Amino acid sequence: MTKGKDIIVVEGLTKRYGNTTTVKGISFTVREGEVFGILGPNGAGKTTTLEMIEALRSIDEGSVILDGIDVAKHPQKIRHIIGIQLQSSAFYDKVTLREQLVMFASFYGKQVDPMELLRSVELEDKANSYPEKLSGGQKQRFSIASALVNEPRVLFLDEPTTGLDPQARRHLWDLIKSIKKRGITVVLTSHYMEEAQLLCDRLAIMDSGKIIAMDSPKKMIKDLLDRGFKKPEVVEQADLEDVYIDLTGKALRE
Ligand code: ADP
Repeated sequence: MTKGKDIIVVEGLTKRYGNTTTVKGISFTVREGEVFGILGPNGAGKTTTLEMIEALRSIDEGSVILDGIDVAKHPQKIRHIIGIQLQSSAFYDKVTLREQLVMFASFYGKQVDPMELLRSVELEDKANSYPEKLSGGQKQRFSIASALVNEPRVLFLDEPTTGLDPQARRHLWDLIKSIKKRGITVVLTSHYMEEAQLLCDRLAIMDSGKIIAMDSPKKMIKDLLDRGFKKPEVVEQADLEDVYIDLTGKALRE
C-alpha cells in the first residue's frame, strides 16, 4: 500500500473537565486515504478526542493540524472539509430524505445529487420517506449520507454500527470500504474488534486518556503472538455469527 501524506497531525492533545484530565497529551497522525480506528473502553476519551479534532470542543493544550489547517485557529475552515454524522435527533421529521440532503448541502453552499447520495447508502427507495419511518440501520446510513453532502476529505464515524443487526453492520462495513475507495480518509471509533480488524488500516488503542498502542491490526496481533500469547482454546472455524448469517442471509432487511 502506498503511504499517503499525513492529513491529520495531533500533538500533545489535552482536555480537562474540571480537575480531571480526560485526554492526556496524546500524539498521532492519520494518513490520507486510510481508515484509522480509535478503540478503547467507555470513558477512555475517544469521543472527546474526535470532537477536539472536529473543532466541536475546545483544545486545552496541544494542537491538531487537519489538511494543513490549525483546527483551533480556523474551526470554520475545518467544517468545510470534514464530514460528521448527524445524530438522528438533528433530522427534520417532516422533510423527505431527498429534500433533507439538498438542505444540508445548501448549508455548505453546495449542490448535491441527492439520489446519487441515497443510492450510495442503499436508501434510494426511501427518497420520499421521512426520517421517522427509518429503521436503526437506515438511520445510520442516512446519517452517513448527510455527512457526505459537503464532499469531505475526512469522514468521522463515532461507533457507526453500535446497535445494528448483523446484516446492517455488514452493509455498513461495505459502505465504509466504498467511501475509502473514493479516497476519503475515515476516522472511526468502535467497540467491535472484528470490525476494527476488517476495516482499519491502523488503530490507536486508548485507555484512561492515553494511547497505549498504535499500529496496523495485523502488526498488533503479530506483536502479541511474538510475546508468547496463546489462546486458551483452539478457535472453531465458525462461530455463532456465521451460523446466524448462514441461516438468515446477508441481505438487508430494512
Ligand atoms: P469515550 O468516548 O471513550 O467513551 P468520552 O470522551 O465520551 O469517552 O469521555 C471521557 C470522560 O470524560 C468520561 O469520564 C466522561 O464522563 C467525561 N466527559 C465527557 N464529556 C464531558 C463533559 N462535557 N464534562 C465533563 N466530563 C465529560
